[in-house]
Amino acid sequence: MLVDYHIHALGHDHFRHAEEDTPRFLQTALERGIAEVGFADHDRYHELYDFVFLRSLQPRFPRVKIRIGVEVDFHPGEEARWSRFLAGYPLDYAIGSVHDLGDWTFDHPNNVRGYDRWDPDELYRAYFLTVQAAVRSRLFSLIGHLDLIKVFGHRSRAPAVALAEETLRLLADHDQCIEINTNGWHKPVGEVYPSREILRRCFELNIPITLSSDAHEPGAVGRDVARAAELAREVGYRRIATFEEKKRRLVEL
Ligand SMILES: [Zn+2]
Ligand SMILES: [Zn+2]
Repeated sequence: MLVDYHIHALGHDHFRHAEEDTPRFLQTALERGIAEVGFADHDRYHELYDFVFLRSLQPRFPRVKIRIGVEVDFHPGEEARWSRFLAGYPLDYAIGSVHDLGDWTFDHPNNVRGYDRWDPDELYRAYFLTVQAAVRSRLFSLIGHLDLIKVFGHRSRAPAVALAEETLRLLADHDQCIEINTNGWHKPVGEVYPSREILRRCFELNIPITLSSDAHEPGAVGRDVARAAELAREVGYRRIATFEEKKRRLVEL
């Protein structure tokens, strides 16, 4: 079964909620054989969420299950605020993502010169430490794009899988799900999140996964998700996670 649990349909920078656009996201999912989709807009757009409208689309797309989540821009120290925020919405799941180190949004193309200030291995360590705080918070159904720090192709000297090891063990200890996020294939790094090496280690540690595109437009829904499923099978996975009312269920891949 194919799913896509990371879709930005309602808002992103210049793009604002347009109700008439939302069915186009579902139409692409239908065409690509995606059985479940999760709308997971950034927390800053949540005022725009219309849960009644989103749920009302379900009868028009009986073959695509609609789930509603959120992608939280995680910063250590804000756990209590996020806990209150997440309790305030009828969500099926929440993605915890690290896009910032301090006040540096490292995944934005305008900020790419910030990488010059870092030793590459120290950068990866700092990034993964922040991910660890997200895992420890136990606030999230899944962790987004686990090795996003590579987005512009800045590689660590030590193997990334070694720098991630402590984080991967923590994920396993917390039974914390991650996603295979296909958007990395379309970024400067040209590699899925997480890398095959990290994903293989995740499988060894029995860390659950789900599949996602991180689509920001209707045409990108389900993009390369079948390829991600193939990768998951190659490293040994046979099941993926789905989410409903904050409960996780594993289904056959
Ligand atoms: Zn993200
Ligand atoms: Zn996203």
